[in-house]
Amino acid sequence: MECPECQSTHINKNGQKKGKQNYMCVECGRQFIDCYETYRGYSDELRDECLKMYVNGMGLRAISRVKKVHHTTIINWVKQVGKLLPDSYSPEKFLK
Ligand SMILES: [Zn+2]
Repeated sequence: MECPECQSTHINKNGQKKGKQNYMCVECGRQFIDCYETYRGYSDELRDECLKMYVNGMGLRAISRVKKVHHTTIINWVKQVGKLLPDSYSPEKFLK
């Protein structure tokens, strides 16, 4: 979880909005909702490339360096993929 504005991970919960968890960045005051910020600024292609590198054994920080994606963003993607395929994670199938 990081701020879509300043990428700070200093985030506080800020109540619920329309049934979704609302968050507020402590650093810059930006408010945002869970699930909204993860894809912001990154294409599906870039996400898939990062996930492929991850399942091929590259470390998060190495991917972060090569792709210039914050490592917490990659962790969020990995978690989302894990949620989609909780039991038999088949990255080739998912990533085409
Ligand atoms: Zn912020």
